[in-house]
Amino acid sequence: MSEPTIVFDSKTVENTPLYESFLTTQKRRVSYHFNEEAARYHYGVRHPMKPFRLMLTDHLVLGYKLHNKLDLYRSRRATETEVREFHAEEYIDFLQRVTPDNIKKFQRVLPKFNIGDDCPIFDGMYDYSIIYAGSSLDASRKLLAGQSDIAINWSGGLHHAKKFEASGFCYVNDIVLAILNLLRMYPRVLYIDIDIHHGDGVQEAFYSTDRVMTLSFHKYNGEFFPGTGNFDEIGTSLGKNYSLNVPLRDGIDDESYVRLFKSVLEPVLNSYRPSAIVLQCGADSLGGDRLGCFNLNIKAHGECVAYTKSFGLPLIVLGGGGYTPRNVSRLWCYETSVCLDVDLETRLPSSMPFLKYFAPDYSLHPNLAGKIDNKNSRKFLDSVHVQVMEQLRTLQGAPSVQMAEIPPDLAGLTEEGEKQRRDELDEAMKDAR
Ligand SMILES: [Zn+2]
Repeated sequence: MSEPTIVFDSKTVENTPLYESFLTTQKRRVSYHFNEEAARYHYGVRHPMKPFRLMLTDHLVLGYKLHNKLDLYRSRRATETEVREFHAEEYIDFLQRVTPDNIKKFQRVLPKFNIGDDCPIFDGMYDYSIIYAGSSLDASRKLLAGQSDIAINWSGGLHHAKKFEASGFCYVNDIVLAILNLLRMYPRVLYIDIDIHHGDGVQEAFYSTDRVMTLSFHKYNGEFFPGTGNFDEIGTSLGKNYSLNVPLRDGIDDESYVRLFKSVLEPVLNSYRPSAIVLQCGADSLGGDRLGCFNLNIKAHGECVAYTKSFGLPLIVLGGGGYTPRNVSRLWCYETSVCLDVDLETRLPSSMPFLKYFAPDYSLHPNLAGKIDNKNSRKFLDSVHVQVMEQLRTLQGAPSVQMAEIPPDLAGLTEEGEKQRRDELDEAMKDAR
């Protein structure tokens, strides 16, 4: 018998395939920014916001062993200086000083800072705020340093907080802080919000600049919290037409939502050409949410993340609303796997703690749809699409990369200052290595 023409080279068989290193470099580096202390705080027994959902999320991520594929970073708290990049001094002073024990002393200023049932004063409230804000800032730093392509912080995404006041369970607006940080290097940042509520705090912060475009998909009827987010909120002065709103009705389903999301996002990206994206993944747009009224399943919500990621831009992925903790955590674990391009078994890992929360189905993809009538007819959705496209047409391409307008917080950051900052960053990164 003659020798076979092709023989196995033992080295090739035993070692990695020829192209793996090439493929690996194509894979996007994903960092996961967390601080387990965020999950320990309580807004109050009857309050729908449960930071505990973050612990469930982390346990699912660990249970599926996704931590082996991520760069894990335990973030430090945001400093007072960092928080003041956006928030008013007086408001931060108040947040730092008020506690459930001394709240009586502050009785007169509580309405001014919008403290009440939605935004109560609970033990450690300021500490909780600087923990989640610290993780979003950390995510922005990793992106700026080029150490991460996709940076995730599920404890962040508190999109309602305003410069001078708390709102909608949010005290410090971590999203605005992270975007301000990104603007130091990136000419244009696109903010996308798929929480069921309008991303009003972020929209307001960047309402008069063209350096941030905000795009929010949400329920709108004029009454549903926060009551804003109609088509006519388009931005002012240099920011005119750079606030995009997609108001929806109750019960929107997977197919319509994903179709609309994609058909809006692609032209937005083509027209605005952002240098980075911040995506708020509020989980209250899922079906079966305690406060929400859409019909989305986990896969459809995740498809919006997958589509956003497919454009290959530096991306920060944040949490947000979500008031049925077992579904919030399933969603954010699934979306972590989407960022990683990893397929997960539908059956939840049996060895994880708190498994009982996922009874009776123990599935990553419970059926969450069909509980609420879909009030979004095809005709209505087509008209929504037409409205958004019309606003986009008036933009006529991306604004100048000359950074025409520098947000006030960044005023004075000259080219020289920018270079010095980059050098400092490089130096700091050297130490970190
Ligand atoms: Zn929400």
